[in-house]
Amino acid sequence: MKTKILISACLMGFKVRYNGQDKPLINSVLARWQQEQRLIVHCPELAAGLTTPRLPAELVGGSGPAALNGDAKIQESDGSDVSQAYLLAAFLALKTAQDSGCRLALMTDGSPTCGSTKIYDGTFQGVTQPGMGVAAALLRQNGIEVYAEGELPALIARIEALDGELTHEEDSY
Ligand code: SF4
Repeated sequence: MKTKILISACLMGFKVRYNGQDKPLINSVLARWQQEQRLIVHCPELAAGLTTPRLPAELVGGSGPAALNGDAKIQESDGSDVSQAYLLAAFLALKTAQDSGCRLALMTDGSPTCGSTKIYDGTFQGVTQPGMGVAAALLRQNGIEVYAEGELPALIARIEALDGELTHEEDSY
């Protein structure tokens, strides 16, 4: 059995971002993983019913874990509170990962949903700060390892290690 990876749809070239664009991650390893049927391509925000294009959204008052606890909000650039839609996006990302048997995720950094090392600071001024989006936070709280696109080498090494463990487990039966 191969280790499966939940991957942000915009990294795979789907134009699902708030601005109607993608954020393709160009690396031959992705084509190989796709051929090996390891990739579960998912956009949590679209799954939650948000449309493309949509207004940009940022976490206000804290990072993903705080938003999951109701201690921070997700707002669009016009000030609308869209926390409920983004919490649904996080839940659907977790459900998709669990239903598909993903132990790992590769997600677009900086997003209020998929970001895993940085997020925008809630001022809509293009300023980032360390933090996680709501989906990345919920995945991690449930034991799924989340990698940003800048951490691809570490993810490749992790997959090789997990594949080795799975092969060893299968050989022991
Ligand atoms: Fe990409 Fe994630 Fe935003 Fe969807 S929710 S557009 S997959 S960063």
